[in-house]
Amino acid sequence: MAFGITSINGQKVRFGVGLRNDICSELSELGSEKALVLSTPQQVDMAMELATAIGDRASGLFTRATMHTPVDVTEEAVEHALSIQADSLVSIGGGSTIGLGKAIALRTGLPQIAIPTTYAGSEATPILGQTEGGVKTTLTDAKVLPRVILYDPELVASLPPAMTVTSALNAMAHAAEALYAKDRTDQTTELAVDGLKAFAEGLPNVVENPGDLTAREETQRGAWACGTVLGQVGMALHHKLCHTLGGSFNLPHAETHAIVLPHAIAYNAVGVPELLTPVSEILDGGEPGQALWDFAKKMGAPMALKDLGMSEADLDRATEIALRNPYWNPRPITADGLRALLQNAWAGNAPGI
Ligand code: NAD
Repeated sequence: MAFGITSINGQKVRFGVGLRNDICSELSELGSEKALVLSTPQQVDMAMELATAIGDRASGLFTRATMHTPVDVTEEAVEHALSIQADSLVSIGGGSTIGLGKAIALRTGLPQIAIPTTYAGSEATPILGQTEGGVKTTLTDAKVLPRVILYDPELVASLPPAMTVTSALNAMAHAAEALYAKDRTDQTTELAVDGLKAFAEGLPNVVENPGDLTAREETQRGAWACGTVLGQVGMALHHKLCHTLGGSFNLPHAETHAIVLPHAIAYNAVGVPELLTPVSEILDGGEPGQALWDFAKKMGAPMALKDLGMSEADLDRATEIALRNPYWNPRPITADGLRALLQNAWAGNAPGI
């Protein structure tokens, strides 16, 4: 696999058990004397433990990171960072915490070290999504890319089993859509394939034994590859559809990705079967969408939008909203095709076409 210590984005990327304990040497390399540690309220213990390991170089904690990076929380965190004269940010957590670090960096220019505890992959992209007044907007800016990523398998090992699987499928969705992206290159395709392979090989072992740190590290390498490729190419039907379902029907991020992925890929495989062949090969399955559906089911993923609380009566409205703003997709999107896709995803059926 093409995994190095430094990513093509110019970030320093390290993998290894116990790596979080190297935080002081990374801070010293950045010339930081006053780090602000960030986390969600659910991960305060991890943040405290890290702050203790940082010792004198830790100048404070901000533990209110929130899903979708609300601007009011960011503004409070910026104020806190300025008040303690922080000279770096250390984000320990999933996409929500890393999103907060990026949002503070955008406003202050502070360097970030990301210590991911899910597979979402935000640490490897220069993309930031923020919400204000209930509206989510996304920007891309090199300033928000963390300078260092420390992938420590021990930290992701505490991710509950259900979230492990949905978070992994969320990451795999970035790679699957990268395979047919309009702006793909040989290099992005190679990264996408590496990411999918890492999850196809590592996730079954992680599911069987959540404490298997070798398998956890393999899946973290997958998260890095999938996140990196997300930052380099445009996404299509799958991501737009999940954005609609998340935004308009308040469905949870990773679970929605996990359920929709096989259906979106089955839909696009009709248009570009040759580009999606790696999915079938890597998962050892038949059609790409079916192979993903079988893999997700075997891993114990949620399979039906109805189980996330979505009502069948909302499917027409979801179709209509998803068709409202046209975007590029490798296969033309039709109202009937989209409605059928959503019906299958809602009911938990195997993907049709
Ligand atoms: P998350 O960060 O919201 O985490 C979900 C919950 O799990 C939180 O309560 C968190 O504290 C907890 N958690 C995380 N890791 C844990 C662990 N190891 N053990 C126990 N609990 C743990 O979820 P996520 O899926 O990682 O991130 C989703 C957010 O990231 C969304 O807002 C999404 O839009 C964003 N995202 C952004 C990008 C990007 O490139 N900008 C990429 C992917 C995701």
